[in-house]
Amino acid sequence: MINIILLGPPGAGKGTQASKLEETYGIKKLSTGDMLRAEISEGTPFGKKVQSIMDSGELVPDETIIEMIAGRMERDDCAKGVIFDGFPRTVPQAEALDKMLREKGQKINAVVELSVNEEELVHRLNSRVQEMKARGEDVRGDDNEDTLRNRLKVYRHQTAPIIPYYEMNELLHKVDGMAGINDVANEIQQILNQKLAA
Ligand code: AMP
Repeated sequence: MINIILLGPPGAGKGTQASKLEETYGIKKLSTGDMLRAEISEGTPFGKKVQSIMDSGELVPDETIIEMIAGRMERDDCAKGVIFDGFPRTVPQAEALDKMLREKGQKINAVVELSVNEEELVHRLNSRVQEMKARGEDVRGDDNEDTLRNRLKVYRHQTAPIIPYYEMNELLHKVDGMAGINDVANEIQQILNQKLAA
C-alpha cells in the first residue's frame, strides 16, 4: 500500500508522471481534473455546475471535491494505493484527505512537488494548444493563456500553502520539473523506492 501526492502548478507534468507511476507500481492514478472533465463531457447536472468554475480557472468548492474523491477511493481499484494528481489543492482538502486515510488505517507516504517556472508553463501551454489545433483536436476550455495566468495565481494563493503542511510532516520531496520527462520519472522512482525500502 502506497499513497502518493503529485503537487505542482498547472502544466508541470503531474498527469504525465502520474500515468508513468500507475504503470510502474500498479497503483491507481486519481486525477480530480479528469473526473470533473468526465462529468462535463457526459453532460451530467454536476458537470454543468462545475464547467464555468473550471473555465475561469478557479477552484471547485472543497466539500464537492472531498465528497467526489471519498466516493472514488471506495472502489476496488484503489486497494493497493493511489497517486493523487491535482488533489489536494487547498489546506482543508489536505486535512480531509489525512482524515479519510487515517480512518482506513492508511497514510500519505510521499508528496512530490514538481517545480517549473511560470514562463516555461506559459510556453508549454501555448505549444500544446498549437499542436492540438494542428491535429484538429478539441482544446480544453481552460487551456488558454489568460485562464492559465489565473490558474497560476490560484495555485500560488490557495495550493502552495499546502507545501509547508507536508514539509512539516517530513513528506515533501522537491523534484526539478524542468528536466526531461524520463529524468523526472527516474528521480521520482528513486524517491519512492527509498520510501518503500525504509
Ligand atoms: P486540472 O486538470 O488538475 O488542472 O484541473 C482543472 C480544473 O478542475 C481546475 O482548474 C479546477 O477548476 C478544477 N479542479 C481540479 N481538481 C480540483 C481540486 N482538487 N479542487 C478544486 N478544484 C479542482
